[in-house]
Amino acid sequence: MIFLTGSDNSPATLYIDGAWRAASDGGTRTVTCPADGSEVGVVSEATAKDVEDAIAAARRAFDEGVWSSKTAAERGDLLLAVSEQLKERKDEFARAEALDTGKRLVEAEGDMDDIASCFAFFGKIADQHPGRLVDAGDDTVISRIVYEPVGVVGMITPWNFPLLQVAWKVAPAIAAGCSFVLKPAELTPHTAILLMDILDKLGLPAGVANLVLGDGGTVGAPLSEHDDIDMVSFTGGLETGKAIATAAAPTVKKVALELGGKNPNVVFAGADLDAALDNALNAGFMDSGLVCSAGTRLVVQDTIAEEFVDKLVERAGKIVMGGPFDEKAETGPLISEAHRDKVTDYVKRGVEAGARLRVGGNWGGPEHEKGCFYAPTVLDQCTHDNPAVQEEGFGPVITVETFHDEAEAIKIANDTRYGLASGVWTSNSGTANRVSRALRHGTVWINDYHPYLPQAEWGGFGRSGNGRELGPTGLEEYREAKHIYENTEPAVTGWFPEK
Ligand code: NAD
Repeated sequence: MIFLTGSDNSPATLYIDGAWRAASDGGTRTVTCPADGSEVGVVSEATAKDVEDAIAAARRAFDEGVWSSKTAAERGDLLLAVSEQLKERKDEFARAEALDTGKRLVEAEGDMDDIASCFAFFGKIADQHPGRLVDAGDDTVISRIVYEPVGVVGMITPWNFPLLQVAWKVAPAIAAGCSFVLKPAELTPHTAILLMDILDKLGLPAGVANLVLGDGGTVGAPLSEHDDIDMVSFTGGLETGKAIATAAAPTVKKVALELGGKNPNVVFAGADLDAALDNALNAGFMDSGLVCSAGTRLVVQDTIAEEFVDKLVERAGKIVMGGPFDEKAETGPLISEAHRDKVTDYVKRGVEAGARLRVGGNWGGPEHEKGCFYAPTVLDQCTHDNPAVQEEGFGPVITVETFHDEAEAIKIANDTRYGLASGVWTSNSGTANRVSRALRHGTVWINDYHPYLPQAEWGGFGRSGNGRELGPTGLEEYREAKHIYENTEPAVTGWFPEK
């Protein structure tokens, strides 16, 4: 599939200062598909020097104004062109994403549509928010707010929606006029490489976009620490987010964090229960639960709980797991053996703390042996302090709690250190309104689960992070507000009179 070979035959998949290059020490990483362990490709593994070069290129490009000096409309046009390219090359991109992640091709194709929409959205709004005039209360004063790009941005992204998470950062950063150094997850680098190919071919000036590949310690950490980086934007796990915020503190750079979640999906007795059940499966098991906003904490009213959970268990037990190109598959593998071990341990600890394993809790059948599969799992009889309820399992595991009335439902759903997303199922509009306002989560779905819109802000309360991606606020993250105050009739103030 990919491409680019350096002079000594090592892959040249780092994109630095407008050129493809191999790692300075020739280092490589072999990427494998978690569905069957097959080799997907070999990519360059950056050294500390390569990262330093990438940061220097981004700094120079920004300080010379090669991109920020373009008009916002020109920057928007480039994003619209990226969107068109993504549509044209959708098959190539979706295949690369499916192979890296093991997710079903049809899901990867859906992701590519979303990514094209994201670039189109930021392309369209790039010149829509130029600033504002301020009424200074004085006709001789022109006071205005203008927006400047933040500067050089370090971007660090996870493996579950590899290019989608990249797009949510790259598109607004380009719209704002920033330069950036991107480090995608080491397990899923291929679509980020392909995106750089598009940016390169569309003529983004050298140094504006830079790609470094490799692990968090060598390649990610400098992006949070470095003095020449003005902002670090991170999507990933809570513990990594804390490390990044700590590493960023001495340089007081701007930090944007999109972290994990343990998201409640609250079902009231009067809801459309067929739709609620179907969506509860989707909320928890779509993409094997490898979704930060997955509704893996089912909170169901006690009067309907037994029947609802029985049906959930029955249907969960019939979900078919398989690789990206298996047309019978309804969900895919986890990302790695190490990750599967974590999910296995998470379920074990949940059961030890008193939860009842109703279905799943295993690695699938003999046909799944070559891959990193984990069967859709339901744990019921969970108490709020069970670690499986409070921790993000990041796998296909739904925990079940019950509630008696609306007040208790809200209390349980807010009993989490996270606050990324939640769902409410009810046919009572009063309940829907009260509960959705009371929930401390960045997104609340009423009678649905999972849809998101590029026009609508995305992000978390609590330890799900800070800042917002998407929507107009997603652009503001990459801009600094500047107040320009002009006195059109300068005069002596007399504050310190001449003596
Ligand atoms: P992770 O935190 O392990 O890794 C994310 C990225 O950080 C990777 O690129 C990794 O190499 C890098 N990294 C690791 N240590 C680092 C360090 N010390 N300094 C700098 N970079 C470092 O997360 P993951 O396992 O790849 O992704 C899963 C997590 O991402 C889950 O917690 C999930 O909820 C979260 N996530 C959140 C959102 C959201 O929108 N809030 C979206 C997707 C995923």
